Amino acid sequence: MILRDDCQIMDDLDELASLRGEFRLREGEIYLDGNSLGPVSEASSRRVNEVIDNEWAKGLVRSWNSAGWMAEPTRLGDKLAPLIGAEPGEVLVADTLTFLLAKLIGGALELRKDRHVVITDVANFHSDLYIVEAMAVRAGRAVSVKAIDRDTLDEALNDDVALVMLTHVDFRTGEMLDMAGITQKVHDAGALMLWDLAHSTGAVPVDVTGCDVDFAAGCGYKYLNGGPGAPAYLYVRRRWQGTLENPLPGWLGHARPFDFDLRYEPAEGMQAFVTSSPSMIALAALNGALDVFERVTMDQVRAKSLALTDLFIALVEDRLPGVFELVTPREHAKRASQVGLRHPEGYGIVQALIERGVIGDFRAPDICRFGFTPLYVRFVDVYDAVERLVEVMGSGMYREARFTVRNRVT
Ligand SMILES: *Cc1c(COP(=O)(O)O)cnc(C)c1O
Repeated sequence: MILRDDCQIMDDLDELASLRGEFRLREGEIYLDGNSLGPVSEASSRRVNEVIDNEWAKGLVRSWNSAGWMAEPTRLGDKLAPLIGAEPGEVLVADTLTFLLAKLIGGALELRKDRHVVITDVANFHSDLYIVEAMAVRAGRAVSVKAIDRDTLDEALNDDVALVMLTHVDFRTGEMLDMAGITQKVHDAGALMLWDLAHSTGAVPVDVTGCDVDFAAGCGYKYLNGGPGAPAYLYVRRRWQGTLENPLPGWLGHARPFDFDLRYEPAEGMQAFVTSSPSMIALAALNGALDVFERVTMDQVRAKSLALTDLFIALVEDRLPGVFELVTPREHAKRASQVGLRHPEGYGIVQALIERGVIGDFRAPDICRFGFTPLYVRFVDVYDAVERLVEVMGSGMYREARFTVRNRVT
């Protein structure tokens, strides 16, 4: 039997405990949805105010030069690179994730012109499936998308496969895939590998260099805490730079944008993947959020994340035996930083929990999803969240009509 005092001791020993003070969190509320939208940090708030009050207000248009605005997408890319094991000059912060996937898919298809198939996961995030389908249709040759059960990848790989696009962490179940092993198999088949790191970046250690990944992209507003609609990032391994083309060219990806040249000539390095003007206020928020990550290692984050999810699973199974089906793998190597609990009345359960100050979310058709973000979630929060879940289930309040009305965002 795990007691609240045991959790308090774990917090007292937690070397990341002091980071919680960096975030603006509401007293009494337990935030288990940092996998959907990370909270605001003091550093983000400071950086945004700096950009507005100094660079924009005082510098005006001069700040494109004097404040280095033009270089910010690549500078922030370099700042983010260690979180995914990339080298400097291999990451760019820009756009949002679906746009960046379009750029990478469109570019990659041109590198394997003699091949006609893109493989992805039928359980992938819907936006990924829409955009891969759209880019395949627009590839100047017949390209078909095979959305497979990812466990059948071995059978699906052959010499007609141009690209494999998988999401490293399943957004519903929190299952983490074997990046090294899968990338190797894809390369053995002569295909290219694109990883979506939306639910990985800032949550689990990633080593794109060690895993020999060709391309990757990830989200700025989830575990990175970059703010609602934050810019995303893309990774292009050095060996593909200069070869991979940006299928959505714009003036700021040109080698000399202020020549106003009518012929497009891509800039060198990651700058070639810029299309339009960087969104400086949004970048400032992400910049501040990345400051916080400079105070931790991803190994520290990982150790606490596993301890938090282990604790949550143990408490739920102890206090509510047989009530939920655990959809997240128990095995550490396959578990990322979120836990999914299946229940036919999951929507109402999550809504009732939110009313009681435990913020999780719901993923159709029946998964209650809880994200555990080690920068600010405490062990006592996990304990208290499960206590409130016990109350919600025991009272049956989740069945009340007001909890069954679907919001626009679930
Ligand atoms: C969150 C998420 C997206 C959506 O990203 P946008 O920045 O809104 O385009 C796409 N794919 C996956 C796997 C995600 O988790």
